[in-house]
Amino acid sequence: MEDLNSNASARGSADAKVQPDDSTHAFTGISGRNQLNPIFAREGEATDFPLNQLPDSESLPETAYQIVHDEAMLDGNARLNLATFVGTWMDPYAAKLYSESADKNMIDKDEYPQTAAIETRCWKMIASLWNAPSADGAIGTSTIGSSEACMLGGLALKRRWQQARRAEGKSTEKPNLILSSAVQVCWEKFCNYWDVEARYVPISDEHKVLDGHDLEKYVDENTIGVVAIMGVTYTGMYEPVKQIAEALDKIQADTGLDVKIHVDGASGGMIAPFLQPDLEWDFRVERVVSISTSAHKYGLVYPGLGWVVWRTIDDLPSDLVFDVTYLGGHMPTFALNFSRPGAQVLLQYYLFLRLGWDGYRKVQQASQDVAVYLSSEIAKIDAFELWNDGTDIPVFAWQLKKDHTDKWNLYHLSERLRLKGWLIPAYPMPDDISDLVVQRIVVRNGLSRNLAESLMLDIREAVDYLDRLEAPMPTEGQVSSYTH
Ligand SMILES: *Cc1c(COP(=O)(O)O)cnc(C)c1O
Repeated sequence: MEDLNSNASARGSADAKVQPDDSTHAFTGISGRNQLNPIFAREGEATDFPLNQLPDSESLPETAYQIVHDEAMLDGNARLNLATFVGTWMDPYAAKLYSESADKNMIDKDEYPQTAAIETRCWKMIASLWNAPSADGAIGTSTIGSSEACMLGGLALKRRWQQARRAEGKSTEKPNLILSSAVQVCWEKFCNYWDVEARYVPISDEHKVLDGHDLEKYVDENTIGVVAIMGVTYTGMYEPVKQIAEALDKIQADTGLDVKIHVDGASGGMIAPFLQPDLEWDFRVERVVSISTSAHKYGLVYPGLGWVVWRTIDDLPSDLVFDVTYLGGHMPTFALNFSRPGAQVLLQYYLFLRLGWDGYRKVQQASQDVAVYLSSEIAKIDAFELWNDGTDIPVFAWQLKKDHTDKWNLYHLSERLRLKGWLIPAYPMPDDISDLVVQRIVVRNGLSRNLAESLMLDIREAVDYLDRLEAPMPTEGQVSSYTH
């Protein structure tokens, strides 16, 4: 995601509260680069703040508020950020609930038993949404986001494999995990932090996602599991979970190895149940033992909330679960963090009550309609070729047609669109096809058809401009503004 903060602080004084008529006031603190100097006129107000040091004394709350407020203003307009998957809008009732519950700590199950009960209701609803054989027989938890949820899913796979290997008196030294080369960075972290070898299956023009081909070349007795992604971050495409499971069935028939699947449904986990209810990607596929999602993506909650659910309690090794005291009883927890905000869980519950299945379907369908409109318009532009069309999750990517031009590339287009406020990143595809640069649009709740039509005007205008250039645009120093 974009890091718009990085140069905001260097421009600390850019939006100072200047009161030009007050000529009698001494405007102190013409700041050097290491100072913030908002210019206030009230007696007693600090006008200089060191940038990277704790100020010596206190300031008025209004002053401090205004400074932080003004600096945050430089962050850019989240609604025009078509790079992020993360929700940027909730309704005023959600905002009210959020400010009422900002003080709740999720881990204090004892102090906030109702929030704890609501957390359980939420993951049970999600377990049903993902077709767990029985919501009561499943087990789940909220997390800070998909990254933590994926770590927990991965840890459960690893522990389960270790237990099975130990029971057979075999080595547990070299666990490996099989993933698409287009996985989100959280899986690279998982493998790095927990000493698991990542076996990446490269994506290509022919195999645009992990689809089970050649899987037998990757699986062995040390494989702790396979990750299937519902909504690949690079492109928004679904991986065919059922087909991957069938490939693993065949491997089991041939070798006896029983390899399970964790579905990373960071975005698709909250799209597929509503827009593709007949697609079997979830617990309907026997091999799927756990599924994770980001509630702050298409779950429509403000950042940071995620969910992870295991098919049954037996699929989560019990020695990973800790007990916390809960109203004199015990509450199991499986988490990387201890304290974390509880408000988002209440926001998720609010949305479940407010929207229900039908409301979620309508919101997601509206996003998809806009995504399909945009991809079909982009496909009409001579310069472009679609990689996919936004009919899985409402996300799609395109590339520049080969031989279209030697004057510009998608990074230049991204820059031109930035002039109009749109953040639409261009970036290289992973490993084996890293020569290929694509540009991607994530359609979220709030990108209306109206806005999308304005965006198309801006894209067409930018492409016309670039196509009319008589000399090539410079390419020095071009960097992808997108990190996974
Ligand atoms: C966004 C994303 C993640 C990480 O999710 P966070 O909620 O940002 O931690 C993991 N996997 C996929 C496929 C994603 O799109």
